[in-house]
Amino acid sequence: MFIGAHVSISGGLENAPVRARELGATGFALFTKNQRQWMAKPLTDGEIAAFKAACQDAGFAPAAILPHDSYLINLGHPEADGLAKSREAFIDEMRRCEQLGLDRLNFHPGSHLQKISEEQSLDRIAESINLALAQTHGVTAVIENTAGQGSNLGYRFEQLRYIIDRVDDQSRVGVCIDTCHAFAAGYDLRTTAACNRTFTQLDEIVGIRYLRGMHLNDAMKPLGSRIDRHAPLGDGEIGWECFRYIAHDARFSGIPLILETPDESRWPDEITRLRSGL
Ligand SMILES: [Zn+2]
Ligand SMILES: [Zn+2]
Repeated sequence: MFIGAHVSISGGLENAPVRARELGATGFALFTKNQRQWMAKPLTDGEIAAFKAACQDAGFAPAAILPHDSYLINLGHPEADGLAKSREAFIDEMRRCEQLGLDRLNFHPGSHLQKISEEQSLDRIAESINLALAQTHGVTAVIENTAGQGSNLGYRFEQLRYIIDRVDDQSRVGVCIDTCHAFAAGYDLRTTAACNRTFTQLDEIVGIRYLRGMHLNDAMKPLGSRIDRHAPLGDGEIGWECFRYIAHDARFSGIPLILETPDESRWPDEITRLRSGL
């Protein structure tokens, strides 16, 4: 199992695998640029080589690494300008992953901003993915489920399916399931029976074969709150049983399982506990 956390890239991308290793992680997530900016300076050959060498030294293969795109990007944007800017930035991020030898990019599907229907926005998201896949090679677009806060789409498994159905190259589209987001969206994960039901639904509606990563977060708000507030594992409304379930289930092996929990000082303990399956 590839278990880790979303680590900082401050001081250079090559520091991310080093930080992950220090946490005792077997996988990690990162931004490939400052996530608060639309565009970044192109990667230099030196930066690319340093990152690849650091990943190799620390023993992280691409399958253990889950890059995340900028939160500014909205691939379902209702307005032409916002949509064009988002698509350009997303393609740039896909290219950065390709250059870094990474094989997937995790992103939040998009928001209709109350200006177009959910369906119209989902259609734009699918079209955005098609444009990005046509201009890049070897990188899978990994759609994250959301809590459904505000006008964010991707809170129902059916919406993830709707997007995948409209992607031309389905070998390069996948999903990342965030446990906090799923729970906030109304999918119960508090017991083994509830996890069985939720992941059976995921398999029937989306297909577990599309799973390219997980975000392991407990939830501060109750089931179905539609509010995205992460809690440390075991401190929230979901509880340890869900994370123990995931740590013991082969369906979740071979993909990055990433903590985005709020208290970074607890990451080494959370990782140890997940890795030992307790
Ligand atoms: Zn997440
Ligand atoms: Zn979240």
